[in-house]
This record gives sequence, structure tokens and C-alpha cells, in this order.
Amino acid sequence: MKKDIQPEYKKVQVTCACGNTFETGSVTDKDEIKVEICSECHPFFTGKQKLIDKGGRVDKFKKKYDLD
Ligand SMILES: [Zn+2]
Repeated sequence: MKKDIQPEYKKVQVTCACGNTFETGSVTDKDEIKVEICSECHPFFTGKQKLIDKGGRVDKFKKKYDLD
């Protein structure tokens, strides 16, 4: 029987540069994703301005990891 070539949507552990970790659904074949910014450390969410958003990075991040 032919193997299903559709990417599997599975839970992936995401590790942020700030040390925060969380799970998200992804079709990646990796077991772990490393990100530089997450909802815990990004100024858009924290209100702190220590990091600079380079043009819609949050939106890209949210789309990529299906967060809202
Ligand atoms: Zn973070």
C-alpha cells in the first residue's frame, strides 16, 4: 500500500531564545522548533520595548505557528 505523503500534523516542542517553551501544532518533520521571539518575550505581548519588531514579525510568527 502506498504510503501517505501528506505531511503529518503533529505536536512540536517550541523553544524560544528567552527560555520559554510551549507546544504547537506543525507539519514540520522536526521534533523541536527554535524561535527567537515568542508571546512571552515579544514587546507586542509584554508591552516592553526592549526588542524591535522588524516589520510584521509577530504576524508572520502567528501565522507560521497558528497562534492568535
Ligand atoms: Zn520568548
